[in-house]
Amino acid sequence: MVAPKNDAATAGTEGQKPLDFIRQIVAEDVAAGVHGGRVATRFPPEPNGFLHIGHAKSICLNFGIARQFGGTCNLRFDDTNPSKEEMAYVESIQTDVRWLGFDWEDRLFYASDYFDRLYRFAVALIEKGKAYVDDQSAEQIRQSRGTLTRPGIPSPYRDRSVAENLDLFERMKNGEFPDGSRVLRAKIDMANANVVMRDPTLYRIRKVAHHRTGDHWCIYPLYDFAHCLSDAIEGITHSICTMEFENNRELYDWILETLEIPDRPRQYEFARLNLTRTVLSKRKLLQLVDEKIVDGWDDPRMPTLSGLRRRGFTPEAIRNFCDRIGVARAQSTVDYALLEHCLREDLNRRAPRVMAVLRPLKLVIENYPQGQTETLEAINNPEDPAAGTRPVPFGREIYIERDDFMVDPPKKWFRLAPGREVRLRYAYFITCTEAVTDPKTGEITELRCTYDPATRGGDAPDGRKVKGTLHWVAAHAAIAAEVRLYDNLFTVDNPAEVAEDKSFLDLVNPEALTVLDGCRLEPGLAAAAPGDFFQFERLGYFCVDAKDSRPGRPVFNRTVTLRDTWAKIKQKQSKS
Ligand code: ATP
Ligand code: MG
Repeated sequence: MVAPKNDAATAGTEGQKPLDFIRQIVAEDVAAGVHGGRVATRFPPEPNGFLHIGHAKSICLNFGIARQFGGTCNLRFDDTNPSKEEMAYVESIQTDVRWLGFDWEDRLFYASDYFDRLYRFAVALIEKGKAYVDDQSAEQIRQSRGTLTRPGIPSPYRDRSVAENLDLFERMKNGEFPDGSRVLRAKIDMANANVVMRDPTLYRIRKVAHHRTGDHWCIYPLYDFAHCLSDAIEGITHSICTMEFENNRELYDWILETLEIPDRPRQYEFARLNLTRTVLSKRKLLQLVDEKIVDGWDDPRMPTLSGLRRRGFTPEAIRNFCDRIGVARAQSTVDYALLEHCLREDLNRRAPRVMAVLRPLKLVIENYPQGQTETLEAINNPEDPAAGTRPVPFGREIYIERDDFMVDPPKKWFRLAPGREVRLRYAYFITCTEAVTDPKTGEITELRCTYDPATRGGDAPDGRKVKGTLHWVAAHAAIAAEVRLYDNLFTVDNPAEVAEDKSFLDLVNPEALTVLDGCRLEPGLAAAAPGDFFQFERLGYFCVDAKDSRPGRPVFNRTVTLRDTWAKIKQKQSKS
């Protein structure tokens, strides 16, 4: 058996955990020399939408197994359905798989590359008397299929001669018949307990241009026919898919067996990822895009890989998440908080700390000399001493967070209030002397304070303690930025479970996006590049928006807050 590999994309986890049931099967096959000990998997997206976090589970599984067992994983576009597919999707899918940290090397394939061979396989089935051309409409075929308790009714065209079937199928290919007038069906068993086996349709006529083959074809193979044969053509050993294909496995095997394919690939199913407070169906995600409820597939509220990337998720965090949720056959729903927890773990280690004020309130230090400024030293990452320190400017006027001040605070308020002393992080102790209000609106417009010059750096030589420490930005040096705050896209855990008279679109969280303009950031952030990520102290992890941020007009996305709800959920669970 090939020893498990460990590299950057899997570091620290694979090879130490017990194997999931699919890896167990693969390990046993390798040990028994099935397929000559070879392991070949594939990730087979249909290019009809952007990849989402559910696809990441499948990508990590397929590419992860190949890597772990010294095998290969192909990227195959399952592009058998001409009308819904677009090149833009093909490109985004490649970008996303690479971004996640996986590489198909020279094994990029398209099911459409196999159209000629698939056609010849279909002809071979006809020659074996195992497929026939049916002149019934799709509706008639559906109606005669029967139910779980009632067998299907054989088509009146079922017993056509091989010669007639060959002739009709060729003429279907040549475009002699209109869309929907005929199909090619497998000749299996109209009374089979498995409805999938009741003479499934293999080819249909669709006079629609294909994004790669153009007008060359007007008949297209269906998934069940194309998929198993594409696997066989590519020499796939373990064809891993989600549970909804469980009933199709019998057909998968039937086609390969009937065509006498040697060293047949085998299909294994696992439960798809469901995640709370979002939807993971391409159809629904497309609806959110088309109805402009979000700003495109890569909107940072979307569970797409491009949305998560723009939001500031790292590939490391997503891979770690996929590793933690594991692989099983039982249906389950994973709490979104676990995904965020994995992200915080990664960002906590790596994100440089900076100070930023999202809702600025001006604060004037009255006893600080007019016109004077100075530079203080701030720690870049307490989790990583090698990250060092940076200079931050300080002056007489600074901004603090509006909600770090209250005129009339409740008990246990440790932040600023009239007469209270707090620490400005890395700077000085200050005491509030006055809150200036706008006489018309009553709104607080400015705070007046004094500082204690002896507390430079944030400690009092007399041992005096303060309970609160505030972040701040010096007014003279601050840069302005737009900051976008995000929340869950849906207000309920399972938006797919919606009342019949309503749409899941009604459950979209209107507060999933809050745009704050006029935020103030420490000046070093002027050099931040798209995709760079930071911890804004006390506020969360943020990244530079890769699409809308401009030099001199930065836009930051809040990736995730600092509050770890997953840790709380775990605590509660372990107590009860
Ligand atoms: P949707 O149902 O949203 O349209 P799909 O399953 O049709 O998605 P494909 O492009 O066919 O999307 O998916 C490619 C691969 O990713 C398939 O093997 C599929 O089983 C897997 N996959 C899709 N969604 C999930 C998910 N939520 N969890 C795990 N794997 C998934
Ligand atoms: Mg699919």
